Amino acid sequence: APVPPTGGDPLAPREAGATDAAVLLSARGIRKSFGANEVLRGIDFSVRRGEVVTLIGPSGSGKTTVLRSLNGLETPDAGTLEFDGGPSIDFARPADKAARLAMRDRSAMVFQHHNLFPHMTVLENVVEGPIRVQRVPKAQALAEASALLERVGLAEKHDQYPHQLSGGQQQRVGIVRALALKPDLLLFDEPTSALDPELVGEVLHVIKELADEGWTMVVVTHELQFAKQAADEVLFMDGGVIVERGAPKEIFTNPREERTRRFLDRIL
Ligand code: ADP
Repeated sequence: APVPPTGGDPLAPREAGATDAAVLLSARGIRKSFGANEVLRGIDFSVRRGEVVTLIGPSGSGKTTVLRSLNGLETPDAGTLEFDGGPSIDFARPADKAARLAMRDRSAMVFQHHNLFPHMTVLENVVEGPIRVQRVPKAQALAEASALLERVGLAEKHDQYPHQLSGGQQQRVGIVRALALKPDLLLFDEPTSALDPELVGEVLHVIKELADEGWTMVVVTHELQFAKQAADEVLFMDGGVIVERGAPKEIFTNPREERTRRFLDRIL
């Protein structure tokens, strides 16, 4: 079984007191503009080890930009990030670039489209990062990749190419490719929104299992049912701010803010 680099046995059941766990990630005052368009207007949140945080909200509210800011795909204009007790990264200071890069390597992103290499087999896709980027010995990388593929029900697909798989299988390989990097933090950017409806369930099931195993994750999703079942905390974003946050039960059954209510009424 894959073992996250720190944080114990990933197969152990989640502890009821997960919210008492150490803070893994803390973001403060994150701001980002694209030209004149201010997309993030001061985002504050933290993620504890083993916690599942979901970001919901209307299209264009800034969810993906938050996620991309967490692993260096976007650079905020201002704000700070602290990761796992490391030094605070201040985005207003370009000198903090080294710390930003170090942090980036500790998270792994699963995209809306799987982004698998079409000319590589499933197994080659999964071991590419560990071998080439992390310098893991080939035999070890192959063994770990095989175990992971088996866990998500893809043991027989090792030697197939992405185009030979269904969309749901491709996305599961995408998830395994992220897991193979043994990140501290998994980031999911609408992982099921490009799938045919009948394939959504199998992918959400895998993500839910990972959540139950104790992986720390931030998930941007339109799947409110998933958020209800898997999230420890739901952040509702609108217009570049977090309008409301709380446990799924609070947000979905008793939202405090009018904007949250209107959003939920529209999509539930
Ligand atoms: P969401 O994930 O909530 O749909 P996004 O974070 O994708 O929202 O986008 C928020 C806003 O930022 C949108 O208005 C979008 O058009 C804009 N945006 C996102 N990425 C870029 C970019 N690379 N260049 C210019 N505008 C962008």
